[in-house]
Amino acid sequence: MHELPITQNILQIALRHAGDAKRITRINLVIGDLSAVIGDSVQFYWDIISKGTIAEGATLHFERIRACFHCNDCENAFEPDGRKFECPQCGSDQVNLVSGREFQLESIEVE
Ligand SMILES: [Zn+2]
Repeated sequence: MHELPITQNILQIALRHAGDAKRITRINLVIGDLSAVIGDSVQFYWDIISKGTIAEGATLHFERIRACFHCNDCENAFEPDGRKFECPQCGSDQVNLVSGREFQLESIEVE
């Protein structure tokens, strides 16, 4: 259910950035592999809340970002293998998430 406020937020930002454009045609979103946001749910809410705005009918494009970790012990950067978040190089679990949780509006296209 938390996709609704997220989607409303995206719509507000998109409308604010559209200026005096007639229509918003495309919304480019970045979604991390580990983000808890479900693209289909965002699309579902989008179709409802964008009705009657200049963003109605805009295409939502999701660019997926792979999760990336950094190992504090050996400085290795790696992508997690399934659900295991250990460093594949030294086996340490002292790792930080560098990317993969993000969900953000990257850009909009208008006409
Ligand atoms: Zn390591």
